[in-house]
Amino acid sequence: MEEQKQENNQRPRVLILGKGPWAEQAASELADHGAKVIGHEAGDASPLLAGCTGQDGAFTVRLMQDGVIQQETVNRILVLGEAFTQNPAEDYGLLNSDFAGSIEEILQNPNSWQGKTVVFLTGLKDLSHQSVTLDFLNAALLLKKESGAKVFIICGQMQVAAPGLERLLFDARTAGVVVYKLNSADALEISSQKDGPYRLLFEDMASRKQVELVPDFVVLPQNPAPDPSLAEIASLLGLETDENGYLQSANVHRLPLATNRAGVIVAGPARDAATPAQRKSQSILGAALALIPTAEAAPKNRQAAINTRACIHCLTCFRICPHKAVHKEEGKLTVLTNACQACGICAAECPRLAISMEDGWLVKNNAAPGQTQATGGFEPKIFVFTCENSSAIAAKAQEDFSWPPNTEVFSLPCLGGLSLAAILRAIDTDKADGVLALACHEGNCHSGTGSLLARRRIKQAAGLLKAVGAESKRVGAFTLAANSETALKQAVETFWEQIKAIGPARSAK
Ligand code: SF4
Ligand code: SF4
Repeated sequence: MEEQKQENNQRPRVLILGKGPWAEQAASELADHGAKVIGHEAGDASPLLAGCTGQDGAFTVRLMQDGVIQQETVNRILVLGEAFTQNPAEDYGLLNSDFAGSIEEILQNPNSWQGKTVVFLTGLKDLSHQSVTLDFLNAALLLKKESGAKVFIICGQMQVAAPGLERLLFDARTAGVVVYKLNSADALEISSQKDGPYRLLFEDMASRKQVELVPDFVVLPQNPAPDPSLAEIASLLGLETDENGYLQSANVHRLPLATNRAGVIVAGPARDAATPAQRKSQSILGAALALIPTAEAAPKNRQAAINTRACIHCLTCFRICPHKAVHKEEGKLTVLTNACQACGICAAECPRLAISMEDGWLVKNNAAPGQTQATGGFEPKIFVFTCENSSAIAAKAQEDFSWPPNTEVFSLPCLGGLSLAAILRAIDTDKADGVLALACHEGNCHSGTGSLLARRRIKQAAGLLKAVGAESKRVGAFTLAANSETALKQAVETFWEQIKAIGPARSAK
């Protein structure tokens, strides 16, 4: 009995936020592997999230169902959301008609379209989503084969990059589906007849001839849309959303299903996985990731530590931490060790310098200085700060790359941790003639805001240098990807030449 109790306590507890087949699938996978699923038991709809504190391995969540709030402790949170689609009828001006509608209306009885004309419209008002392209090509092919109907696809930008779509397009064309590609929605004139079908008029771009179609039915695209509840979930969990409203953008440092908050996994319709195959594979993978034991988010010797005596409780660190790692309880701030990613952003922004990063945080590349031959004349001393997720990798990948003479190279977990004070100290105290920050491309920063902050501080430093009569171009920022070896070489050499041309820093004169 004791053993059984202990075993139950050790079962991973996973909260699922979402509805529909993908949530069902993830719940079933988790249950099959011994996890205790919260929020999606026995096919119930997911309760609403009302709050969340804690960190990977020990989140405390507040859930509301039927007006009652319940508190649960879970190890992981898997956000799947629900699949939604846009209604394009208004976009295409085909409202309230028996002659236009969704793909389901066509597929209810494909045989009934024998001898009729069906037109699929896609990618004219918006980029056609891969899932729509897949559904349209499959439906057009089926309709052609089953009914022999005259089937047309009129498309603008149609995505066929996903595996198998090119082949499907070829098969559809071979079966007799006619595909017309137009440059824009303006190239298609749609007029309606009283209580009758629509009349479509356009110029065939291949033959340059006018084409007129009066289809018995126009199939409209239904591009996937984000679940409206995602905005609230993002706010409560502190997750980032992309410009379309999905959770997590295509940030390469958060693939396949990671988020800015360790222990929170976003998959399926919540992550813009649009095709049924993508949703299925992501819900299975999401369930598998939720079962992996809590790992150390960042090496413990590199994390942030708050000096409570120096802290003035301005809460800047609490607000700015991109990984929700600063915890506030009863007026006391602590850093959650399973959540801290050692980005250093809090330390760089703290107005009282009350946050320090542990000793192993900043790594000096000892092999870097003076790799090349002396050039003669003034050889500037430059400091280059690289990001471990991008520029540091690009530098290591180049066997034939030598840093210019007198270059000192440092690597950080995130350039968001490079403070204004550190930039100015490099020039003032460490006698550097120039400071170059090499961050990740914005949108691909592991910590989300790190690149932006690095650029902002370099700009501030440039302004301060100018204010004291020094050259603002002594400091610079550049963004790179991990595979941008050539760009790295160019950025470093150009900056070094720039500083050589400017001459020694005032403090070194
Ligand atoms: S930013 Fe610094 S001073 Fe402000 S609350 Fe955090 S540790 Fe305290
Ligand atoms: S180092 Fe980064 S992840 Fe850690 S507490 Fe500070 S801001 Fe948050």
